[in-house]
Amino acid sequence: MPNAEWMRRDLAHVWHPCTQMHDHEQLPLIPIRSARGLWLHDFEGRRYLDAVSSWWVNIFGHGHPYIDAQIKAQLDELAHIMIAGFTHAPLVELSERLVARAPAGLTHCFYADNGASAIEVALKMSQHAWRHQGRPEKHRFLSLRHAYHGETLGALGVTDIPLFSATYAPLLHQALHVAGPDCRGLPQEQWQEHSRQAFATMEQALSEHADELAAVIVEPLVQGAAGMLMYHPIYLSLLRAACDRHGVHLICDEIAVGFGRTGTFFACEQAQISPDFLCLSKALTAGYLPMSVVMVQDSLYELFYDRFETLKGFLHSHSYTGNALAARAALASLDLFDQLDVLANNRRRAARMAEHGRHLATAAHVANLRQTGMILAFDLVDAQGRPFDWRERRGLQLHRAARDREVLLRPIGNTVYIMPPYIIEDADIDLIFDVLRESVAIACHGDAGPGHDTSIALP
Ligand SMILES: *Cc1c(COP(=O)(O)O)cnc(C)c1O
Repeated sequence: MPNAEWMRRDLAHVWHPCTQMHDHEQLPLIPIRSARGLWLHDFEGRRYLDAVSSWWVNIFGHGHPYIDAQIKAQLDELAHIMIAGFTHAPLVELSERLVARAPAGLTHCFYADNGASAIEVALKMSQHAWRHQGRPEKHRFLSLRHAYHGETLGALGVTDIPLFSATYAPLLHQALHVAGPDCRGLPQEQWQEHSRQAFATMEQALSEHADELAAVIVEPLVQGAAGMLMYHPIYLSLLRAACDRHGVHLICDEIAVGFGRTGTFFACEQAQISPDFLCLSKALTAGYLPMSVVMVQDSLYELFYDRFETLKGFLHSHSYTGNALAARAALASLDLFDQLDVLANNRRRAARMAEHGRHLATAAHVANLRQTGMILAFDLVDAQGRPFDWRERRGLQLHRAARDREVLLRPIGNTVYIMPPYIIEDADIDLIFDVLRESVAIACHGDAGPGHDTSIALP
């Protein structure tokens, strides 16, 4: 069946995420028949290089033979059982291996099935831990301006992206937000000093609000959904020390940056810190099955451990918690990190991205080119160097131009980024940058002006 027919059937009944469905009257939906390696294949023989790892999850591309085989083998053992009162081998092994790789003291793993749910778990646990210590007034949270921590109601409360949160304001808990250490536009050698200075507002907020704060929550090194805002690890070191001084938990949301994305296995390793809670999801199962985990400090776990009181426990659950197929996929992904020497090879890949980036940075309409490990981003600007009015939807036009050239990019407003799978080869990187250059020129050509298309921006 051709693409158009699948699209017609889809649009009759499927409501797509993060999408103004009306957009598909102009921008055709692409039905995908199969996905192998870096490539998605449609029903008409066209293909698309997945330069964003399908929303940052498919770190080993698609249909990886080793992960496929491991999941198939798991199917012959068991697919899913409830893990209250029961357990299974993949879950035990995964927890052991995560604890072995994580920063010191994160000895306990609480599982959920998506990133936002992991955030809900961490927020609830943090508040609950303070209650256990006789501090019920410590129930508020502090996050960074433009933070993104997911879109369920608790997670949305600490998210600061009005496009996602403003409509639901009456339903949300009131978190505090402080300006973050965004280093956009600065040369990399100035990131450290800028991040250090930006910490002053955080220090101020902590000293004013410590009595009511349960935790500070941050995305280490890269604020992803905000538009790949990057900063120096010094900010995390200062934050860890300040949280200790003020008696506030630190939640590191590594849902986007965990598993090698920033150059180290976990981003917080670059600051040599250990958070109280570490939230992981997206790349955990290499894009195969939904799973998330909150890793918790031993001392916090102990607060919930009680011989007499059921209610002292953490009575949170999801039906699919600890899914065996997902755990096996996660184990396979961890195996590949060793088998493929991923971190060392990514340094080489990141260097090639940086080399192309240096050239692209001088192109017309490209500003603030920045990179942290395997994430490279820049902003589209007009001929005068000003950000385009978001209603002009230059990012969407770039998406379309790249798609016509068989590369899948999904800009966030005016921010274009690549976040490729860790199987990408030099020639594929070269191709992506060729397509980026052409697509920037096409997307920024002409002054469409406000009113060109004033419907809502595609994030
Ligand atoms: C994607 C993301 C989440 C939410 O994860 P979902 O699985 O989409 O719910 C939370 N935090 C960060 C930093 C993310 O990038």
